[in-house]
Amino acid sequence: MRLRYFCEHCGKEVPRNSQRCPHCGKFFSSVQCPRCGHQGEGRTFEAGCPSCGYLRFPQPTVSRFGGQRGTRGGGSGSPALYRILGIVLTLALLGILALLFLRGTGR
Ligand SMILES: [Zn+2]
Ligand SMILES: [Zn+2]
Repeated sequence: MRLRYFCEHCGKEVPRNSQRCPHCGKFFSSVQCPRCGHQGEGRTFEAGCPSCGYLRFPQPTVSRFGGQRGTRGGGSGSPALYRILGIVLTLALLGILALLFLRGTGR
């Protein structure tokens, strides 16, 4: 009596030495660690290899911010306005300083 392996995802029979279901493409339930050779059920590998901690499934790089932030345009805070504000502030400061200076030496 030979062992038969079935895909836990689609229920179809899969070859014994296959690591991936040829029917649905899901990984076979029995997983072998590529690092230490530990073999076990696929769900025991969800948090990494139970023997050596090797992570079989690399974490998918999910962009949490969705890339909605457009780099072009830059609508908020135009640099021209800030430049004008800076010039106005500088002129005002200069005026105040000049007034103070004139008042100080006027006596
Ligand atoms: Zn399958
Ligand atoms: Zn391992």
